[in-house]
Amino acid sequence: MAVKIGVLGLQGAIPEHVKALEKSGAETRIVKRVDHLEGLDGLVLPGGESTTMRRLMDQYQLFDAIKRFAENKPVFGTCAGLILMAKQIEGQKGPHLALMDINVRRNAFGRQVASFEADLKIEGIADHFNGVFIRAPYILDVGPDVDVLSRYEDKIVAAKQGHFLTCAFHPELTDDTRFHQYFVKMVEEAQNK
Ligand code: GLN
Repeated sequence: MAVKIGVLGLQGAIPEHVKALEKSGAETRIVKRVDHLEGLDGLVLPGGESTTMRRLMDQYQLFDAIKRFAENKPVFGTCAGLILMAKQIEGQKGPHLALMDINVRRNAFGRQVASFEADLKIEGIADHFNGVFIRAPYILDVGPDVDVLSRYEDKIVAAKQGHFLTCAFHPELTDDTRFHQYFVKMVEEAQNK
């Protein structure tokens, strides 16, 4: 049976993730309320604007529900989703969901290069992957339990920690579903444990 993966549907690149997950063999559900998390095997936190998403998560009581969900279910965050997952955000007092032992810098590539594409090597996923960066963050440093999956010019742009996966770019904006396939496999493996 196909695994069922939710896409947080408050703001951001939602239908693109749904499409990429379905192409990767998963069933999907857009999550806008707490009860939408029921019966899901994994969750995607899309790109968008992390502060807006946080505000909406609080408003719809999704913040605590997602934290509980993440205790034993895989979560994949892209771009703003990465910021939501980080335990530390540079220059900011508190983190959001604080799921991954990573320290991130927001809008990290500066104004001139706010949006760009780069050919990336991603450990265990692809030797060449077109990374689409949009006002992207990057990871400044990681804790000992975090595996770095990709770097762009020395900056960490993809990582994995146990059942958490994250990247600073937007794999859902390309036709290449290898990143999503990797997450779907993580969700399948978590189910068979
Ligand atoms: N700059 C956004 C933030 O800080 C992230 C950008 C994105 O998700 N494309 O939340």
